[in-house]
Amino acid sequence: MSREKEIITLRIAGLSEGVHEYTFLCLASDFKDPELGDPSFCNDIHVRAVANKTESEITVDIETETVVDLNCDICLEPLKKALSGSYRIFFVFGGSDAGEENENYRTLDRNASEIDLTEDVRETLLLSKPVKAVCTGNPQCAVYHGNKSGTDEKPKENMSQ
Ligand SMILES: [Zn+2]
Repeated sequence: MSREKEIITLRIAGLSEGVHEYTFLCLASDFKDPELGDPSFCNDIHVRAVANKTESEITVDIETETVVDLNCDICLEPLKKALSGSYRIFFVFGGSDAGEENENYRTLDRNASEIDLTEDVRETLLLSKPVKAVCTGNPQCAVYHGNKSGTDEKPKENMSQ
């Protein structure tokens, strides 16, 4: 029943209206979460949160950047991949539950002194992880691709190089 540690929190007590930027440097192990216990998340994780406060809400843009160590799905060669994730959340002041159905919209007590983004950063990181990892420009690996016709390779959307 250990409660997840709060790692990424924005201190918003007395925050003036406008744009405020917060940066954090953490490690996957900080999250004490089995899902992020994935050995591929072994490098520094850079988190940037930009909060834009207005009279009625605080919009928070989360950006995560890290490098994961993976193995090529085909030749199993180790490879590094830079990952970036982003996520936007709207914290609306007041007691209305109207936005509760949308997880991007949350209500926030006007007297709240901080926003805990630990869970959201964790999600952003997990979502940024690629489903497939294949090394590129490695002739040793290309051998294993076999001939191009008749494979079940799906066309890449925006990876043309
Ligand atoms: Zn490979």
